[in-house]
Amino acid sequence: MQVCIAHLYPELMNLYGDRGNVIALERRAAWRGWEVEMRRVGLGDPFDLGEADLIFLGGGEDRSQQLIFRDLLEEKAASLRRAVEQGAAVLAICGGYQLLGRHYRPAQGDEIPGLGLLDAHTEAGERRLIGDVVAESPPLGGATLVGFENHSGRTFLGEGVTPLARVRAGFGNNGEDGTEGAVWRGVVGTYLHGAVLPKNPALADYLLRRAMEHRAGRPVELSPLDDAAEERAHRALLHRPGGRR
Ligand code: GLN
Repeated sequence: MQVCIAHLYPELMNLYGDRGNVIALERRAAWRGWEVEMRRVGLGDPFDLGEADLIFLGGGEDRSQQLIFRDLLEEKAASLRRAVEQGAAVLAICGGYQLLGRHYRPAQGDEIPGLGLLDAHTEAGERRLIGDVVAESPPLGGATLVGFENHSGRTFLGEGVTPLARVRAGFGNNGEDGTEGAVWRGVVGTYLHGAVLPKNPALADYLLRRAMEHRAGRPVELSPLDDAAEERAHRALLHRPGGRR
């Protein structure tokens, strides 16, 4: 069986180890005997995202978001939307997550329009929200998520999306309502960098399972992996001071 992972704007949208997410996805698929096709999709690249089973968009500073949003809206939106409608999985981190919502209003410069794929919008606040995050995720069966956040944007969710998690430590979407990230269909947005997937195998497998079901056209059970190293990395962050506790 084959699985196709598309990595959007790998040069421009890559902060705090976000690239490690595609490595984790690739490894976890390969360890299960799947053949992985990796596609790096940059500015002006005409690759049809409807071909992908899993699409990854990392975080980026305001400047990077300004550089990519036109290409995202004009060249990638239609095929990304089609992929999601067909059940593909999407993971977007921080600046990438913000661009899946309706808009991001930075502290300086014009509002950046988003894809509107997620019912959410983001406004920059005065203080950056920085630190380690520990959050509990009902959509992942109550799994705990750990990661690192650094953003000025405050994201507010609408009725059309479900929070990915509730923060136990750290700020999450906006530092006010206790939510972190968003889920809609196969789309997951989160502020967690780190990279988030190597140390949160529950989230990696949630996405991979959707990707594999998209490819196979039927329900798929993922075989268990030896996650001892992943669990050690996860636990190390659970007990690290930082963020708001
Ligand atoms: N520009 C965004 C913010 O600061 C995203 C930053 C990031 O991706 N880490 O809110």
